[in-house]
Formats: sequence, structure tokens, C-alpha cells
Amino acid sequence: MTRNARTRGDSVAPGEWLGLLGGGQLGRMFCMAAQSLGYKVAVLDPSNDSPAGSVADRHIRADYLDPSALSKLARLCKAATTEFENVPAPALDVLARDARVAPAAASVAIAQDRISEKTFLSGHGFGVAPFAVLRSTDDARSASPQLLPGIVKIARFGYDGKGQIRVATQDEAADAFVAMRGAPCVLEQFVSLACEVSVIVARNERRETTTWPVAENRHRDGILDVTIAPARISPDLAERAQRLATDVAAALDYRGVLCVEMFVTGSDDLLVNEIAPRPHNSGHYTIDACVTSQFEQQARVLGDLPLGDPAQHTPAVMVNLLGDIWFDGDADAPALEPEWRNILAHPRAKLHLYGKAHPRRGRKMGHVTCLGGSLADALATARAIKKGLGIPGVDEV
Ligand code: AMP
Repeated sequence: MTRNARTRGDSVAPGEWLGLLGGGQLGRMFCMAAQSLGYKVAVLDPSNDSPAGSVADRHIRADYLDPSALSKLARLCKAATTEFENVPAPALDVLARDARVAPAAASVAIAQDRISEKTFLSGHGFGVAPFAVLRSTDDARSASPQLLPGIVKIARFGYDGKGQIRVATQDEAADAFVAMRGAPCVLEQFVSLACEVSVIVARNERRETTTWPVAENRHRDGILDVTIAPARISPDLAERAQRLATDVAAALDYRGVLCVEMFVTGSDDLLVNEIAPRPHNSGHYTIDACVTSQFEQQARVLGDLPLGDPAQHTPAVMVNLLGDIWFDGDADAPALEPEWRNILAHPRAKLHLYGKAHPRRGRKMGHVTCLGGSLADALATARAIKKGLGIPGVDEV
């Protein structure tokens, strides 16, 4: 028999089970935070060895839409969440019949498709980079010249700069559309950026909202390289960024942890680049530098516990550790175990490895959060660690 879905006031106490769809590193850090609060976590994920599955109290190894796996998860857990936006939204709908599900399937469905995401954001008056929807090569050939030079981005399943092609002409946009095998895309104007920032918001059943300090993000080859927190922007801009993120969460009537990634233009305007309906790589610094991490907050929202204080107590610089540092030069196969003493020798650097067995170039294997008495100290540690591990872009930080 179906229990009523959990609603407001119906808390899930530590000691009970929380469910998680997805087995990646965001799920692993969620498990650890939830377990530390006393919850047990069941992970539904199809892979044999996954970063979250290997620390979860139970790993249900099955497809996300497997009806018996979903009903097993719903019987065990009074609340459930997801750690990646490409989880099929119907899986969340099925769970929501029996359990509190945050975020809701409707929010995830908007965020997992660039067309619905940008249409939603611009429809609600939030600034986005000018764009056009491409569903045919004709759409590309007739696109406004004002969108050029631009970037053709596949609408679904793109991540870390994958599924994106820079274009200078309408014909190139048409070729890019063909290269995406005719899948729906957006053509986005290439915006001149002063910097990129993100704000992570948590919002619970009572619509209480907390935001963490604005994070400044540096990318390399489309992948987040470094996050600097707090961002080196004016207090006014930081306040506008936090308000923008809170307003986006309210427009979605969002429950859970949401990341709003933004472009800062040369005239200090904020454009929403994308939203992620889950904790985010740019919020990893919150584990070591804030009173409450993004992952603990995700567990608190699920349990309908009071939200924790997001205040940052220590300046921080987070450096991503990609699989590239396992490779010797241009070698085809990984050969090296990175010299972790390069990190552990720094007493205020916090190493986080995700337990992934197979390093690949560009694959997120872990991160290190450099804490400092000042942001300058944290930046100096980050530079020293990058240099020691051979991560490019030391002076760009
Ligand atoms: P995305 O996967 O859309 O977040 O894009 C990855 C990175 O590419 C962003 O973080 C930016 O550095 C860059 N980028 C994406 N779209 C644009 C744009 N419209 N204008 C300028 N840079 C962009």
C-alpha cells in the first residue's frame, strides 16, 4: 500500500534511511555528510563500483527506471534525492508517490535540458546570454547574425564543456548542428566575460532559504579548474548574485540544493549560464571552509531539519584533481600515482579523493581545498600544490 508522500512537518530523523539516485562523487560526499548526521543512505546506481555505492549503507545496483529497484528504495527510505541532473525525471516522480523527494522532478526536468532551462529563465526575467533554439540546419542558417560568434550547445547530456562547438558563421552553426547528430541545440552568443561566479542555494519545505558566499570559478578546457571563495568581486555585485540565485530558486519553487552558475559581463551585469539541481563542484569548498557544507544541507532539507548556518569561517581555494595527473606527459595509459605528499605537506590543505579506480584525462578524481588565514595565503598554497602536481595554469590562479 502506498504511504502518503512526505510533506512539511513530517521530519525524517537521523537513524532513518535516505535514498540517493546516482553514484558519483557528489553522491559520495552526500553519503558521508548524511552518515555523519546519523542517517543511513541507500544508493540506486547501475555501476559495479561507484564512488557513492562504495560508501553507502546499501547499494541497489539497477537501472534508474527499474520498477522493483525504485520500489525497494521507496520502501526503505522516507526521503530521496539525486546527485546528477540527468537522472530520468520519471524515476523521481515514482519515488515521490511514497517519499519526500527533493528536488522535485519538475525542477530537474527544467535543468536537464538547456532549451527548457533558458526558456524558463528568460521567461521569468532572469538575464541569460542571447540564444536561439536549433532544431534543424535551417534554424542555424537563419539564426540572427547578432548571435555570432557563438557556441552551439547540445540541449541534453552535455557537461564540462562537452557537446559544445564554437562557431563564427551561420554555416558553421549548421555544421555544428549536424555534428551533434541533429539533436536539439541552442546557439548562444559568445559573451565577453569579466569572470564567472556561482551561488549555491538551499531551500526547504518551509521555503526557508540559505545561500553560501559567492564562489569565483576558473575553467580550463571547459572543466572547472579552481574555485576561489569568497569571490573577488564588489560587495554590491556579490549581494546581487546571491539575490539572483535566491530568486531563481523561488521561481522554481525549489526544494533541495541548487547551484546557479553566472557570467559576470564587463559592465557587471549577471547572466545565468546554467543551473544544477544538486550540490556542485564549485561548492566543494563548503566542506572545509563553512559551518555547514552543501552536502550536509542537502541531508537537512531531506530530513526536514532546520537549515544549518552556511557562513564561511575560512578563506578557501579549491583545486580540482583531474585524471591527467596520473599520466606521464602524452602517454596513452595512466602510469603514475600522484605524489600526495605535495598536498599533505601543507597543513591547511584538505585532500578529497573520490575512490575512482580508473583515471582518465579530464575525469574528476578528487579535489583539494586550500585554507588560508587570508585569501592570499590560500591562493599561495593552491599555486604551490598545482605546481607540485604539474597542474597547468599555476599563475592564472
Ligand atoms: P557550460 O558547459 O555551458 O557551463 O560552458 C562551459 C564554459 O564555457 C563556461 O564556464 C564558460 O567558461 C564557457 N562559456 C560557455 N558559454 C559561453 C558563452 N555564451 N560566452 C562565453 N563563454 C562561454
